[in-house]
Amino acid sequence: MNDILRKELLGSGASVVGFAGLRGVLNSEIAHLERAVSIGVDRNLNESTLRLLGTLQERAAKILKAEGHRYLCIPPDSDRIRNTFVSRLYPLVTHKMAATSAGLGWIGRNGLLISPVFGPRLTLATVLTDAPLKIGSPVESSGCGECSLCMDFCPSRAITGRQWSRHDPYVALISRKKCDSHKRKMRALTGKPNCGLCRSICPYGRDNKVSKIGQAV
Ligand code: SF4
Ligand code: SF4
Repeated sequence: MNDILRKELLGSGASVVGFAGLRGVLNSEIAHLERAVSIGVDRNLNESTLRLLGTLQERAAKILKAEGHRYLCIPPDSDRIRNTFVSRLYPLVTHKMAATSAGLGWIGRNGLLISPVFGPRLTLATVLTDAPLKIGSPVESSGCGECSLCMDFCPSRAITGRQWSRHDPYVALISRKKCDSHKRKMRALTGKPNCGLCRSICPYGRDNKVSKIGQAV
């Protein structure tokens, strides 16, 4: 099942595919869906990325359904969709939780998933399932090491510099208030609300030459 899913998803445009075990971290309504397929594409979140990730989730769901397994697709932007079942799940089952549990990377000082290959440039989607998938080795701690580039150059000093670990997953990495305040100022000046310096400055994945051909992690 792992190989079938991986082959199909990488062949359809995914950059990374991983398999996570989430036993004990899901709320009771979905506790039976204790495995996750974590899918990443090497693109910014925009309409075409959403479409691609939607297609990839559909393909994974089709394979799982054909084998008689249950599944629940959590879209990449489920945190922005209001008043739906998956939007209410989002704080409990974040894509970053699934991705780190699948071994795809760690949470960097900038609060983003850092893939060793693609850096902070993946957009993620998740498919929960009860299929008996072989799960990857979770990443236990940050791989940022001594690097502090994102913190040093953040224009709003929003990045605290602390390090994520699986044992302290909710450590305060970013001051959202400071970051949002800076983005509002940017919008007033340029018409664009985004900053993204902490993403673009990260050395991981910057020179990645394999991103367009896909790679399983
Ligand atoms: S988006 Fe900009 S302001 Fe916000 S944390 Fe990143 S570098 Fe700082
Ligand atoms: S810029 Fe450096 S400290 Fe920031 S997330 Fe990337 S590796 Fe980690």
